[in-house]
Amino acid sequence: DASICSPLPVLGRDVTVPLVTGGTIAYAALDYAASAPALQRVWDDVAAYAPYYGSVHRGAGYLSQFSTDLFEKARRTVAEFLGCRADDQVVFTRSTTDSLNLLARVVPADCRVFVFETEHHAALLPWQDDRVTYLDAPRSPRQAVETLERALAGRDPYGPALVCVTGASNVTGELWPVRELAAAAHAHGARIVLDAAQLAPHHPVSLTDLDVDWVAFSGHKLYAPFGAGVLAGRADWLREAEPYLAGGGASRRVARRADGRVEVEWHESAARHEAGSPNVIGAYAVASACTALTEAGWDALVTREQYLIDRVRSGLAEIPQVRVLSLFGDDAPRVGVLSFVVDGWNSSHFAAALSAEYGIGVRDGLFCAHPLLRTLLGTAPQTPAECGAPSLNAIRASFGAGTPDEHVDRFVTAVRRLVTEGAKWTYRTEEGRCVP
Ligand code: PMP
Repeated sequence: DASICSPLPVLGRDVTVPLVTGGTIAYAALDYAASAPALQRVWDDVAAYAPYYGSVHRGAGYLSQFSTDLFEKARRTVAEFLGCRADDQVVFTRSTTDSLNLLARVVPADCRVFVFETEHHAALLPWQDDRVTYLDAPRSPRQAVETLERALAGRDPYGPALVCVTGASNVTGELWPVRELAAAAHAHGARIVLDAAQLAPHHPVSLTDLDVDWVAFSGHKLYAPFGAGVLAGRADWLREAEPYLAGGGASRRVARRADGRVEVEWHESAARHEAGSPNVIGAYAVASACTALTEAGWDALVTREQYLIDRVRSGLAEIPQVRVLSLFGDDAPRVGVLSFVVDGWNSSHFAAALSAEYGIGVRDGLFCAHPLLRTLLGTAPQTPAECGAPSLNAIRASFGAGTPDEHVDRFVTAVRRLVTEGAKWTYRTEEGRCVP
């Protein structure tokens, strides 16, 4: 099937890197979950626009008008990509972290927040401490829904509530039962925000279909690395709150009062939370990626990725020393993200050897999800100070629409060879990293 065999063109496929063992090799980027390579299409669109770059919402010249139109059109493209409802707002931010912090600022004063301890720190930490209920790690999607229902039903007082949940784990790649969690939230009079940082690059995300109130994601994980992110969803809380940033662009009218104070009337549109000159290139790049993914077709993208997932997982399953981390079990549906530990190996050392000896870029560490790593590893995680010291962290490989078969095959082969033959090089620690 041609669709299974054709990754989308991305930048960086021709980049060669030195090997400590001598020579160079084409870099295999298997760290999409941290930052995905730019789609060639995104790069081309941005390059074609670059000569027409101008200020947004603050210029009378042709290029300012052009850039303003492009920025607002990007907003509409993203709204369509996310299946927004008619009265939803799309706010351009810097990232998922920025989007969730923005939402945390507009949550009504009497609102309780419910968040699983397994979340990425960007979803775990923005909420004011005295408002949050942290939910224990569930061991199945069903248990996640039951845990949430119990917590929401038992809240005291039974007032406004917000649930913040991931769509796909940045550690295990496992899909969370978003539709069911949204239904549970709404049945209990709560709202829900979806952290789609890892879901949006791999699956269609629709506010309407999933019936979630907000979605947050990052451009740089969606093949659009120009510094933009998105928060999209219900307008009311956004409109009623003080602006996230105060400044020009967010304010409609500013006047000095008779008593000498300054009085401000803020915009009610998304501009309310976009003070300062907008990142038009970032927003345009995100829109370009949305269009490219939609045109490629989610069926083909999901089929292709599932093929890669099966290929990697069956390869690793044949290496008994490798333990792939999982919260929901081997059969859980997942995206192209997986973390593992290797018996007798220090994870940072292992990841350094994958890079230095095989030209493969993965991530080692705790993946900004310390409580989740503790649950998965069964012990308090820590990044070891010494390359040779026992490892209480993990290795993560992640891939997506631009990944060729060769990258995942090289990865599985490299893991097997490191396990059976050992590293060819000696590694030491330099500024917290293992280096040859
Ligand atoms: N949520 C999840 C699930 C993530 O994987 C990440 C990034 N690792 C974030 C939030 C934060 O994204 P960003 O660093 O782009 O703000």
